[in-house]
Amino acid sequence: MSAVLVVNSGSSSLKYQLIEMEGESVLASGLIERIGEQTGSVKHTVTAGGDDETFRTTEPVADHTAAFRVMIAAFEQHGPSLQENAPVVVGHRVVHGGKRFFEPTVVTDLVKINIEDLSDLAPLHNPANLDGITAAQKAFPNVPHVAVFDTAFHSTLSPAAFSYAIDAELAEKNRVRRYGFHGTSHKFVSEATAAFLGRPLGDLKTIVLHLGNGASACAVDGGRSVDTSMGLTPLEGLVMGTRSGDLDPAVLVHLHRKAGLGFDELDTLLNRRSGLLGLSGRGDMRDVVEAAGAGDDRAELALEVYLHRLKHYVGAYIAELGGVDAIVFTAGVGENSVVVRERSLAGLERLGISIDPERNASAERGARVISTDDSAVTVLVVPTNEELEIARQSLSVV
Ligand code: AMP
Repeated sequence: MSAVLVVNSGSSSLKYQLIEMEGESVLASGLIERIGEQTGSVKHTVTAGGDDETFRTTEPVADHTAAFRVMIAAFEQHGPSLQENAPVVVGHRVVHGGKRFFEPTVVTDLVKINIEDLSDLAPLHNPANLDGITAAQKAFPNVPHVAVFDTAFHSTLSPAAFSYAIDAELAEKNRVRRYGFHGTSHKFVSEATAAFLGRPLGDLKTIVLHLGNGASACAVDGGRSVDTSMGLTPLEGLVMGTRSGDLDPAVLVHLHRKAGLGFDELDTLLNRRSGLLGLSGRGDMRDVVEAAGAGDDRAELALEVYLHRLKHYVGAYIAELGGVDAIVFTAGVGENSVVVRERSLAGLERLGISIDPERNASAERGARVISTDDSAVTVLVVPTNEELEIARQSLSVV
């Protein structure tokens, strides 16, 4: 039996999953948070025969190296045995692969230098991903470690789609272009959609709407990403929980000049205090929908701005693809919000898009069609599984 350990390390967190690859089933998963703070929290879930058992503790976790010790101790105490289910490879989520990495890559010292070199493009993510890799290499020294990049799936974008219309030399020198993110999810979901529909991936034009706390849209033509809404960083595009998505770049200059906001303040404003939160005071879509339903005007406006932007991208990508076969909702909001799915695609019957209200409202989990039988475009909900995709890709290169 071959198992893969999938690791996603943030600046103060470590998320992991141990996946048995023959049946592609999760053996255990966990989340260690508040690394580096006085008390860290540890959650370890053992999945046995469909039954989950979760164990929680709090203890100080100094850094990522300590986090791996805590993780291994959780496996020893609660199972499953890491001797019997020894990972054959450790797969790491790495956010930014720049122009260099467009395939899952076995980690070497040179690869680590390159990931570090890309940190100026993803200062919040790449250094933390790298800390996680280094700590994991100490904890599992005898297996290969593979980096799987969030940007990789979008390496197929054409120059027309990835170039910003600014001074070309300046852009080139500073690596300014669209990279796109959530690639692991867009790849997984577009492939799962083709499999679910029983259609060859190569024949399918798909729009994937990954609507989580972060959100992005992707136009996928025959399995290749041809456009995506996130750009140089994960700030561009759709309205998100706390991120603004698209805005006139002159807003920054204006706020700098008029309101005296410096670059760090602008960065914080757009990444942490905007989006649903900025518009309504609530960053979680569940709260926004509830408040809007109860008559809160700001929440209703936040929802409308969110839906307006989403519809805008759907229309743009139908045009870019020259028509679409499937529109797919995924991630926290996409998989769960009946209201967002219904309202974002309302009024598009002339484009061949009709949602069936009953199918849309069904509490069924798993991949499913929510469009009517006579809708020319099939609309689906397909749960994403980035960990499984990282595990598959990691296994494929070792
Ligand atoms: P993710 O980043 O994919 O984990 O998605 C997290 C987001 O999903 C949260 O910000 C929630 O707002 C959203 N979410 C989860 N369940 C629901 C729901 N039933 N309705 C609306 N949004 C939801």
